[in-house]
Amino acid sequence: MTSRKLGVADATEAIEELEAHYPNAGYYLNFRTAVDLVAAAIISARTKDTVVNAVTPALFDKYRTADDYAGANPKDLEAMISRVSFPSRKAGNIIRTFRIIVNDYGGKVPDKREALTALPGIGSKTANTILINAFGIAAGIPVDTWVLRIAYRLGLSVEADPDRVEADLEGLVKKKYWKNIAYVMKAHGKELCRTSAPLCDECFLSGLCMRNGV
Ligand code: SF4
Repeated sequence: MTSRKLGVADATEAIEELEAHYPNAGYYLNFRTAVDLVAAAIISARTKDTVVNAVTPALFDKYRTADDYAGANPKDLEAMISRVSFPSRKAGNIIRTFRIIVNDYGGKVPDKREALTALPGIGSKTANTILINAFGIAAGIPVDTWVLRIAYRLGLSVEADPDRVEADLEGLVKKKYWKNIAYVMKAHGKELCRTSAPLCDECFLSGLCMRNGV
């Protein structure tokens, strides 16, 4: 099947439909502070949200500040996140990240995308997520596996590389939707645009959707 793309008007309509159908969609990891969110976001790579949200309460109680994480014993931290994937690597990334935050930013999580993506374990998606949810800044659209799949199927992007998909979306989607687009897409992916068997006959976007790959 040839991949096809939506124009700006149809893309805007699709996003507005998603917003209207999932008014309660929002970020799915629990956190209290920007420090919590950085730790949770690093832990969340290739790990289910429910697992992340199950391990973070104890973590957030033990490590409250950037200094706490920067001085953490790697084995202790690894043990606390042993249920997530790659706990040793993620514990190391958390400690290294917070050492940089302590040394270079006085213990405050930076609110610039370039500063965040320079930290260990933080790429574009995570940086965009932190900026949106900790600071209310829409510097970019977080592109996760839900966004990749649904953007492609709908025809918002025909790319597979997350950075290219992000660029396509940011060219098509009004900035006022950047903060929530990943979360309405995830809601749609769970309800109708399922991974292996999308429910296209029931989908409110079927009249717009390019159904790429379906
Ligand atoms: S029509 Fe099908 S492929 Fe397109 S968004 Fe709806 S469920 Fe997904």
